[in-house]
Amino acid sequence: MSQDKKDHTLIENDDAPIVQFIFYLYSFGYSDKKIALLLNESNVKSPSLESNWSDSTVRYILNNLWYAGDLVWFSRSSYENSKAKPIEERFLFPNHHKRLISPQLWATTQFLRSKKKNKDRMDSPFVLRDIVLCVKCERKLAVKNMTPAKAKKNYQYYYCKTCKRKINLEELHSYVFDDFTGRWGRELNNQTRTIKGIYSEWKKTIEAKSAENKSNVDKLRYKLSFVKPENEFYEDIKESFTLQIKSVEEERTKLLNVLEQIRVLSEYGEPLELISRFKEDIYKYNNEEKRSIFLIAIKEISIDFIRKNFIEINYRLTPFVEVETTIDKLNNKKDEVSI
Ligand SMILES: [Zn+2]
Repeated sequence: MSQDKKDHTLIENDDAPIVQFIFYLYSFGYSDKKIALLLNESNVKSPSLESNWSDSTVRYILNNLWYAGDLVWFSRSSYENSKAKPIEERFLFPNHHKRLISPQLWATTQFLRSKKKNKDRMDSPFVLRDIVLCVKCERKLAVKNMTPAKAKKNYQYYYCKTCKRKINLEELHSYVFDDFTGRWGRELNNQTRTIKGIYSEWKKTIEAKSAENKSNVDKLRYKLSFVKPENEFYEDIKESFTLQIKSVEEERTKLLNVLEQIRVLSEYGEPLELISRFKEDIYKYNNEEKRSIFLIAIKEISIDFIRKNFIEINYRLTPFVEVETTIDKLNNKKDEVSI
């Protein structure tokens, strides 16, 4: 739609800003449906000129890797099977053509897409749900709206299903919003400086893990070479080794994909377009915008009901939630022996 494919060269046309606008809206928490509504209300022409924008047209654009500038190879499961492969299993050739969407914006929209698969309602007033934890019970807080019909005041709570303690929505939100505002006022310049160091730490973690995987595959192959075909359990042993090798190799492919993502993110420069939204007055954003901002800025908020609702906020190092989560998992797994 915004680029025409002809002999593998792409020509940008006038629709590029619309595509960029769609990605931008999605990264701010808007649903496919709401984006389609907005485009129709603004009389923006849809790709199929005779009909209006629909949520599926918007979704198609948001999942189209062409806009991220990466040529997707092997994007089908097989020649006979046209079912699309999950993105993490695709092989990417970055910078094949000029990208319309920054890798940062792409990563954010993909993260929000996966979040919404779990039925996340971005426009709910409980913008911090699933992020808040009861320290004592080590459990995520549930939410409850106990506002009676026609009531002038809201009675909305985050509460712990185990210890039954609760905190008022306004009390929690005003604490978190103020802390968030103060933090980004102080640390914004720091963030863009430290991010390069973070990328390089991430690369080291993945490279180490990937080397470990490779050596594990070699060890498995070596061990298998000692099993004699005459052995009565040869077929079973061989199958078991083959499965283990396959699983380690699959993990390694995933790691190499994450490494590739980190390379693209780091080469593209600072994630200014994401971080700059933290600078604005958080109170001015609507619920879905607030929700999207907190999801990419905060890892976890813990509340200690016994210490007079003492609140602690664990901010993310970067806005790239999925990469950060992978690295956290790898760092936590270090003590485990994989084979
Ligand atoms: Zn509790």
